[in-house]
Parts: sequence; C-alpha cells; structure tokens
Amino acid sequence: MSSKKKIGIIGGGQLGRMMVEPAHSLGFEVYILDPTPNSPAGQVADKQIVADFKDAEKIVELASDVDYLTFEIELADAEILDALAKTGAEVNPTGKTLSIIKDKLKQKNFLQENDVPVADFVEVTNVEEAKDAGEKFGYPFLLKARFDSYDGKGNALVQDSTDIIRAMQKLNGQNLYAERFVPFERELAVTAVRSTEGDVYTYTTVETIHKHHICHTVIAPAQISEKINKKALSLATSILNLFDGSGVFAIEMFLTKNGDILVNEIAPRVHNNGHHSLASCATSQFENHIRAITDLPIGSTDMHVQQAVMINILGERNGTANPQGTEKAKEIPGVSVHIYGKHDVKVERKMGHVTATAPTHKEALENAQKARALITV
Ligand code: AMP
Repeated sequence: MSSKKKIGIIGGGQLGRMMVEPAHSLGFEVYILDPTPNSPAGQVADKQIVADFKDAEKIVELASDVDYLTFEIELADAEILDALAKTGAEVNPTGKTLSIIKDKLKQKNFLQENDVPVADFVEVTNVEEAKDAGEKFGYPFLLKARFDSYDGKGNALVQDSTDIIRAMQKLNGQNLYAERFVPFERELAVTAVRSTEGDVYTYTTVETIHKHHICHTVIAPAQISEKINKKALSLATSILNLFDGSGVFAIEMFLTKNGDILVNEIAPRVHNNGHHSLASCATSQFENHIRAITDLPIGSTDMHVQQAVMINILGERNGTANPQGTEKAKEIPGVSVHIYGKHDVKVERKMGHVTATAPTHKEALENAQKARALITV
C-alpha cells in the first residue's frame, strides 16, 4: 500500500481529469468514482471505481480508501456525503452545500433569502402555473429543470403562451421552475476558492459567451470597468461566505445595461469558466481546489498574462471521437489545447478546449479562434 495520501473524486469527467495532474504534482494519489469505465479522469487517475453516483456501497468503499473526498459533479449524492462526514470522512465542499446548490430552485430561494440579487422565479408544476408565470414575468421567460441540468439541457425559452406545451415537453417530466428573462448586456463569472481556514480568494471576473445555453467562449479578464469587476468579486466573496466547506466555487452572473449584477447560478466545484486559469494564472482553479480540500495553502489566483481567451471544442457530430489538428493548433503562439479523452463525440458535447494568451484581447481572441478552427473531433 502506497504511503501517499489519497483523494477521492466523485465524477470522472474532464473536471476530474484536470484535477488529477495537479494532485499528482502535489504528491497525492487520486481515485475516481464514475459509471463510465475508462472515464476521462479515470484514464489518468490511479484507480477508478466504476459505479453510479448514487451507489452508496461504492461511495462508502471510495471514502474508506481515501483521505479526502470531493466531487466534480452536482449529481453526487449529498445525503451520503453528509453521512460520511459524520463518520469522520473529510468531505469538501460539504454535503449540505451540495444539497442546496444541486436543486436550482432551492438554490434560488436560498440566495434570495440571503439578499443576493437574482432574477424573479417561481416554481411550476403544471401548464396552468407556467401560464401564470408568463402573465407575471411576460414573454419570453425561461422554464428550467430543478435538477441535473447542465450545458443547456435543462432550459427552455418560452416565446408566448402557445409555446408552453412545447417547452414543457422538451423538459419532459422534470421538476421545473420559471424564471424571468434577463436582457443582460454581458454574462460574467467569478471563480472563487475557500481554504480550510475559511479565507476566500477570487480569480478575476471573466466574461462568458453562451450559445444555445452552452458556454462557448471565456474572456479573461472581462472587458469591464474596475468598478464592475470589484462589484462582481465582492458579490462572489459574500456568496462563498453563505456556504460551508472548502474548495472552488463558480458564480455565474448577468450584468444589466444599468450596471446591476444578478446571480444566475452557483456551482460548488471547478467550472468551465475557470479553465483559462490553467494557462493564464499563477495557480489554476484545479490545483487550488486540490489545495483547498487537502488543507494546503491556496496559491496565487493572479493572472500572469495580460489576456486570455478560452474556446470550447464542442462536438459537431455523433460517433466515435477522433481529434485531429491539435499539434497544428499548438504551433500558434500562446495557444494550449486540452482534449478530454472522451470515447464518443456527440453534437455540442464538451470534447476539449483551447486557450490563447496574449498581450492584447484582440490577439488572444484571434489566436484562440484560429486554433479552434484547426481542430476537429
Ligand atoms: P443556466 O443553465 O441556467 O446557467 O443557463 C445557461 C445559459 O442560458 C445562461 O448562461 C444564459 O446565457 C441563458 N440564461 C439562463 N437564464 C437566463 C435568464 N433568466 N435570462 C436570460 N438568459 C438566461
């Protein structure tokens, strides 16, 4: 048995994969729990337990194998994590935090109760309530799935009252809530990390550009005034102080025309919005998450380049993945490429990302776009 300390991660996707490398550099072994054999993180970790995220027996087995337990996906079971923490397992962030955040309606209620500005929302359980929401919020408005929604899969924009049935069918059978449409000027995001001592550190505010509710491009730092940047950072810090547990959190926000910031949603984990940090920051979000959950000091969150642009490599077809063009893309100055090792490609599935760093935003954007265009998956 190795004398190295071990980290268990529930979820074996790209987020877990990008945590494995810094964990190894810091001298830890990493065990992954994920239902897909040879998952992106499992390929590079020391061990993968192939099991469902709700498989209590296997999660207990993972917890007994490791010194620190964390998750990279909201599908992780909050109740089991809480029970394990009560028996002495070091679980971060906490099951309680996860249980508030994983139900987006509970999360919105929690934020509102704590005076965090959010768009108006209301629970919807049938067509009549959706119509009432339309009357109240006007059209268009959003119907959103409360649970397990990611990369736009749980959202439907309702154009008018005749569109409600279609939108509800799209989100077929899920628990829903309705949300007022925010005609935002930009979308912003802040990655923040809390140490075991409770100190909060923030990465600079980024701008995120979504298409079909999926993140496409992240611009770091966001091209906003210092006043708005400070406002976003201080909002993020105050939000982290509402939740328990150490680790990285991501806060997604809407910036309105008159300079108000509304919080869209929170993730109690590393996030796509912070991928640029691998290339642009003294310490990446992935390394800082590992540091935070293992009681190590948090590394500097400062950018060490002037500008960075990250563009996701989303699938353009369904089939077996076959990444091409990455070497050519890497020849572009300041460009780094991450391919996540997913066996199957699906339309709009996150398969990898490119980041370009440069002295100017224009150059970073152009180089990231050039790099992205060279790659097919
Ligand atoms: P979500 O899955 O809730 O983070 O939403 C994904 C994306 O959908 C966001 O990043 C926005 O681009 C868009 N979106 C979500 N909620 C709203 C809203 N209330 N108003 C306008 N756009 C929204």
